[in-house]
Amino acid sequence: MFQFPGGEVEKILVSACLLGAPVRYDGRAKTLDDVLLSTWRAEGRLISLCPEIAAGLPTPRAPAEIAPGATADDVLRGRRSIYDCDGVDMTADFINGAALALQVAQDHSCRFALLTDGSPSCGSTRVYSGDFNGQSHAGEGVVAARLRAAGVRVFAQHQISALARALEDAENSAS
Ligand code: SF4
Repeated sequence: MFQFPGGEVEKILVSACLLGAPVRYDGRAKTLDDVLLSTWRAEGRLISLCPEIAAGLPTPRAPAEIAPGATADDVLRGRRSIYDCDGVDMTADFINGAALALQVAQDHSCRFALLTDGSPSCGSTRVYSGDFNGQSHAGEGVVAARLRAAGVRVFAQHQISALARALEDAENSAS
């Protein structure tokens, strides 16, 4: 296991709901039961964060989606918005959550993140349409976009094996 000088291991920023925290909009978790996650937890690698809770949003809360046809980059650049299902503009909270997630990643020198797919914050391969109709398409949320722009490698929960390989490659190249 690779360790930075001083004994620190390579850290992974993880969506809190994957680790069992009941922080989703519906007040539930999205617990990922995977031996890799258990191993990384035991190794002290995991940094748990819910960006939306960090930004001050309550649980439960109304579901939110990136506006139809817009990308996370559009939102981060102030061109488009994220609305909840009641039509309330939640953009400022989500952008704040993304900034806080990047701050936490940087505070812990995280070069990797494992995030819950589909979320307007944490999604990294798919997001919902913006029409609250259950349809999704390829895309990412604002946290994933912000982290990637800063050089953090972001993986969805169904890509945990790819994350393990990337982590191993990083450790091998650093040792
Ligand atoms: Fe989970 Fe991310 Fe949504 Fe928080 S913002 S509930 S960590 S998917």
